[in-house]
Amino acid sequence: MADPQALQAKLKVLSDAYAAQLPAKLEQIELSWHAIPLVGWDEEGFQALHRMVHSLTGSGKTFGFPALSDAARNLEACLKLHAQARSALSAAQRDQVQGLLVKLRQAALTQGGGDASSVAVPSVQSNTAGCRRVYIVEDDEAQAEELKVQLSYFGYEITVFNNLSAFRLAMQANPDVVVLMDIQFPEGSMAGIAAIREIQQSREKTVPVIFISAQDEFTVRLEAVRVGGIAYIVKPVHLGSLIDRLDEMTSSAPGAAYRVLIIEDSVALASLYAGVLEQAGMEARAVNDPLTVMPALSEFVPDLILVDMYMPGCDGMELAKVIRQMDVYDSIPIVFLSAERDVGKQQIAMNLGGDDFLSKPIQPERLVAAVTSRIRRSLRLRALMVRDGLTGLLNHAAITDQFEREVARAIRQGMPLSLAMVDIDHFKRVNDTYGHPAGDRVIKSLARLLKQRLRGTDLVGRYGGEEFAIVLVDTDAASASKVLDAVREDFSRLHHQSDAGEFGVTFSCGIAEVGRFDNAVLLSGAADKALYQAKHAGRNRTCIADAPG
Ligand code: GH3
Ligand code: MG
Ligand code: MG
Ligand code: MG
Repeated sequence: MADPQALQAKLKVLSDAYAAQLPAKLEQIELSWHAIPLVGWDEEGFQALHRMVHSLTGSGKTFGFPALSDAARNLEACLKLHAQARSALSAAQRDQVQGLLVKLRQAALTQGGGDASSVAVPSVQSNTAGCRRVYIVEDDEAQAEELKVQLSYFGYEITVFNNLSAFRLAMQANPDVVVLMDIQFPEGSMAGIAAIREIQQSREKTVPVIFISAQDEFTVRLEAVRVGGIAYIVKPVHLGSLIDRLDEMTSSAPGAAYRVLIIEDSVALASLYAGVLEQAGMEARAVNDPLTVMPALSEFVPDLILVDMYMPGCDGMELAKVIRQMDVYDSIPIVFLSAERDVGKQQIAMNLGGDDFLSKPIQPERLVAAVTSRIRRSLRLRALMVRDGLTGLLNHAAITDQFEREVARAIRQGMPLSLAMVDIDHFKRVNDTYGHPAGDRVIKSLARLLKQRLRGTDLVGRYGGEEFAIVLVDTDAASASKVLDAVREDFSRLHHQSDAGEFGVTFSCGIAEVGRFDNAVLLSGAADKALYQAKHAGRNRTCIADAPG
């Protein structure tokens, strides 16, 4: 991730370059103005002039010339009126334009006060992003140890502190951690909260804290919130909800992997936007010529497209239409960027397939916020269509679909692939004894474990109620069995909580590999049969399907 100083430096370079080019730009504007004939109507010449002035409106303030933006806006408004009339200007009208041009030139001499001098780019990276280190502070050694073991199955790196002084000492090194904090200690019934308050006051960045307590009084919860507690969990801890909170807090930054394609004819502005987005943890690519957008789209595969409204050759609205006409891109959010203040025009742009409209000059934090929220929303929508609601895994249709695709690919390329079918053992009994909600939590915890233990390239789906399908690419049955067996053992060690007490659950697994079974139907039939064998042989085990014959 780029550091703020680097962006500031980049911005300074861009501003300097902008200032250096300004006299030439003004010169060009004057030349175009004087080239417009006194009689008749020169549409092209007038549009070119209008475009140049418009570009100053959009960029001036951003690069430290706010007065220039304002003067350009006034001149632009005047030119717009004449463009509508489409007839040669009267002497009085020419004087008016001339006067505005003079003001424009004067404004170009007043630098400062704009964004360039004071750009403060927000980091959307939360301070817990990517951190999977957890401190458990709990005076009950048995409870702390139990929680440590359970959490470590989910890939967290745990350190336990059984007393507050050891914890305080460790925090002095400013570690990047999430703290799971008990409240009651030998020092007092609120000692955990007091310790956190002290630490928060001594630090610049707030330490992310989840309180875990046997107390459930409002006043205690209130104090916990006041010292920056992000969550408050009442004992006994439901592992599922704790993991959910931890995953949420430690998942990578919202913008981390977001990819933004910027289509903007001003090289300076495009580069500035790219810098701002990169600073916020995103990946950005700039295209300065709208006519070259196609290769950039297919190569870069953006999550969002930022388009300037007015560009020579092809404007932003036309571009949005073209992009929307292609099936693969019809759900990518498109955000327009323009100095356009005409709400009617903005509306037209939105109707043509734009998702948002940002006015130039745009504040860095507004840009980052708009882009982030648009991408997040669109990813969420996309996920809804292929994800299972309870577990977030691929749903039945999606996993079936992708399984078939992967099998075809593996056969084509002569690569190994295994399908594993997992089914929870005696799950009906779990529901009957501990209740349906407890059963749901078991399903979620298995989903989470599978997701965390398998590689990013493997596909994990919820195939049915308590049945999961896992497609392991580049993996033969023997290796797949090793992986699933390790998950099976860890799963069998989890302690699940319910109102009717604590319990353990196991699963059985059947595996089949490409090579022995050479299409999707045969593979899934064979994996099912192997699963049945595992059940029959006593459950809580993994079976590999033998070659037919
Ligand atoms: P086996 O070891 O042979 O697989 O026994 P089982 O009890 O797991 O098998 P069976 O397929 O008969 O029962 C599955 C149960 O899973 C029945 C159904 O009520 C329950 N179930 C299915 N989907 C869900 C769900 O989303 N949540 C909960 N809590 N239970 C579910
Ligand atoms: Mg305690
Ligand atoms: Mg079943
Ligand atoms: Mg079952």
